[in-house]
Amino acid sequence: MNEPMESATCIFCAIIGGRAPAHRVYEDDRILIFMDLFPAHEGHTLIVPKRHGENLFEVEAEDLDAIIRASVALGAALNRVFSPDGIAVMQLNGEAAGQTVFHYHMHLIPRLTGEPFGVHGKNQADDAVLADQAARLAAAYTPTR
Ligand code: AMP
Ligand code: ZN
Repeated sequence: MNEPMESATCIFCAIIGGRAPAHRVYEDDRILIFMDLFPAHEGHTLIVPKRHGENLFEVEAEDLDAIIRASVALGAALNRVFSPDGIAVMQLNGEAAGQTVFHYHMHLIPRLTGEPFGVHGKNQADDAVLADQAARLAAAYTPTR
């Protein structure tokens, strides 16, 4: 894989590198989990590889493995903290698919029965609310497998 570790113009690389703020939930050598700043629903979180890749087709297989495993652990933490009826796991590739940030990210979005699907990337959440949610998810997060 010839992808550079990071892109100078990428907001998620800036978050990973600590040059931009985020409400961080968990990180290890390969991945970072943080709260979506413009959530579609309460508890909307993102899992990103630390190594920059634009989309599913540019991310290293080992990073994709780590992201899938992390989605299981994060799903369990979201269930503990928010008790949703379901969790949407979503990932968009390319502008035509609705991708707006071109650093691979997996969305985990808690859902409630009957609640219409919200729009992501639109309404900025309150900082204190996101900080509280990130702290509760971090406490509930147990890495699996
Ligand atoms: P996508 O449409 O799949 O590219 O989604 C990009 C997601 O990134 C959206 O849900 C945005 O709300 C989220 N987002 C954009 N900028 C930030 C940021 N600085 N911190 C956290 N989430 C962000
Ligand atoms: Zn990046």
